[in-house]
Amino acid sequence: MPSDCLFCRIIAGELPSTQVYSDDSVVAIRDIAPAAPSHLLLLARKHIASIGEIQATDKDLISKMGLVATELAAREGIAEDGYRLVLNVGRNGGQSVDHLHLHMLGGRPMAWPPG
Ligand code: AMP
Repeated sequence: MPSDCLFCRIIAGELPSTQVYSDDSVVAIRDIAPAAPSHLLLLARKHIASIGEIQATDKDLISKMGLVATELAAREGIAEDGYRLVLNVGRNGGQSVDHLHLHMLGGRPMAWPPG
């Protein structure tokens, strides 16, 4: 684990977070600056910089993140009205934390195209 990675430190419990889910491969927390009434971050426990860096051996992790998102959308009460899943990749993608994480945003209509 890179000692300077914000999300590795949150997963390790070294920094505080509002955790809503945890299993052997994924941890979900509330975003500290929510962009929607419900804004969760699904963090891979394994340090991978972004989805642009995954290997074939990570395919189970990626599908697991999708399954966890589906479960958490139901728990958050946003499944019926819909929600948005976002993977920002790199600087032009708007990624600010270089640790694989899936945004789940819901509770309001989302605009398209994104900014
Ligand atoms: P991204 O820009 O896609 O890399 O997303 C990083 C997200 O992490 C942003 O939405 C931030 O608001 C969020 N964030 C940054 N620091 C924290 C923190 N300490 N706890 C929870 N969320 C955070």
